[in-house]
Amino acid sequence: MTPVNIILLGPPGVGKSTQAALLSKRYPLVTLSTGNILRAEVAAGTPLGLEAQAAIDSGGLVGDEVMIALVRSRMATLPAECGYILDGFPRTTAQATGLDRMLRELHRPLTAVLQPLLEREEVVRRMSSRRECRTCNAPVTVKPEAPCPACPACGGALFQRPDDTPAVILKRVAVYEEQTAPLAAYYQRAGLLAPVDARGQPADVAARLITAIELQRLQRRAEPVRRQRALGL
Ligand code: AMP
Repeated sequence: MTPVNIILLGPPGVGKSTQAALLSKRYPLVTLSTGNILRAEVAAGTPLGLEAQAAIDSGGLVGDEVMIALVRSRMATLPAECGYILDGFPRTTAQATGLDRMLRELHRPLTAVLQPLLEREEVVRRMSSRRECRTCNAPVTVKPEAPCPACPACGGALFQRPDDTPAVILKRVAVYEEQTAPLAAYYQRAGLLAPVDARGQPADVAARLITAIELQRLQRRAEPVRRQRALGL
């Protein structure tokens, strides 16, 4: 089976990590979450972590060159039979063009750019009620009236990310709308964009994403034939 190579393009809080976990049960792929990678670097106190900390804390973005190099180093070591999901990358036009170059060089063409769509209010609400498991990193949604004390997957302790506080959430959503949302048009022009309704239960959203992936795969498969016809071959 040709590997499935995906970008999840959506605001923080739309459910990208949850969906990446569900999609990786369906397809053989590796999730590259730049937010998770950076948080691990911060926790380990590496030079990159120290550089990234201020941007993460304030809800701003880490520099493009650093981010492109970070993704390239991970992408270059993926097993050939494995696809990938990019969660949280690219976030700027410079990152998107850097990614194009890297994917061409590494022969890892995109299958689809999935764009989960949700209203701004719901994005902010989901971000405010999300926690993360310290043990298995699973994202968990808690209800204010019935706080969940432990991770339902592994029983680990939950914590709220320091950048999931109201002021930083609003900044992150604003940065997304200004710097990242315009990438939808970029991928639309490339024929890769698949907008998907992200309302409702995670399993229902995952089913819609899988349908979108399969449609895009069919289109990708038909492309060489279309190109040959256009050339009169
Ligand atoms: P996330 O978990 O994807 O919401 O990312 C958390 C934080 O990490 C973001 O608010 C940024 O400060 C930083 N970050 C993650 N991915 C990127 C990226 N592709 N470019 C720049 N900064 C990033």
